[in-house]
Amino acid sequence: MSAPYPWLDASWQRLLATRARPAQALLLAGPRGVGKGALARAWAQVLLCEAPLADGAACGQCPACHWFNAGTHPDFRLVSLQEKTTKEGETRMATAIEVDQAREAVDFVQLSTYRAGYRVVLVDPADTLNLASANALLKVLEEPPLNTVFVLVSDQPRRLLPTIRSRCTRLDIGLPPVDVAAQWLAGQGVDDAVNLLALSGGTPLDAQRWADSTELDERRSVLEGLARPDRLDPVTLGERWKTVSPQTWHNVAYKWLGDLLAVKLQGKVRFNRDFSEALAQLGKKADLAKLLALAKTQANEGRTLAHPLNRTLQVQAWLIQYRHVFD
Ligand SMILES: [Zn+2]
Repeated sequence: MSAPYPWLDASWQRLLATRARPAQALLLAGPRGVGKGALARAWAQVLLCEAPLADGAACGQCPACHWFNAGTHPDFRLVSLQEKTTKEGETRMATAIEVDQAREAVDFVQLSTYRAGYRVVLVDPADTLNLASANALLKVLEEPPLNTVFVLVSDQPRRLLPTIRSRCTRLDIGLPPVDVAAQWLAGQGVDDAVNLLALSGGTPLDAQRWADSTELDERRSVLEGLARPDRLDPVTLGERWKTVSPQTWHNVAYKWLGDLLAVKLQGKVRFNRDFSEALAQLGKKADLAKLLALAKTQANEGRTLAHPLNRTLQVQAWLIQYRHVFD
């Protein structure tokens, strides 16, 4: 079994080399969209496999591999964000890993293993542990039971409790070289890989998601509007864009503001290269203080995406504030 993605090969080899004595608490840290979660799962399978290959990789054939791939291995636990049902009966993704999930994992590692090998707990995304759940896990991270391996995955390792970070052996996964990522994307049938990579900040899995979705059309529609703030009509556009998913809206607006700031401060476009000219013009007109204030609001909005208010009003309010940046 090779690394889940070609750019992870060096990290993968480093992990395989530790198979005989794996870190009891491993933190995989790095930007989103580079395959940390896939790497963590592949590593868990390596540890659970009962007939590993000569290089230490999982065989894919033994009972443990079959269970793992079916999501039923009794010595594996995934601790992640769960869906919740609100009082109104809507299903939403929780924004934090709750303390009862952490306690369940703690109970799990106290039991004897079903098979003779390791027991693996994967926490992904670990930065969504709240204080109570982090503290519950900390106890077992400090003194992990025998044959127990924790793998934590995080885009924002700084948000982890320092006491948790200090218990972990950290493996940083960086952005892949553009040529490697572009070649992989092309192999997945993605056209325009280099532009999409720029748009996704160099993260190939995000670039692939862009290519697979209707988001690209929505993005173009939103950016064509934002590129002409003098003509922008918040009422009409707020109504038109209310169907754009909150995630896409945030993603597009956040990167647009990021580019405006980058143009203003460093004279270069990072994400939306296909709008370079418009950004350069707007960068000259934008008021830096207002732009920073809006970017800050936008960053905070990312955390409240799970609780969208009235979409139309929210988008309209944003557009009004956006227009004022260029007054
Ligand atoms: Zn196996």
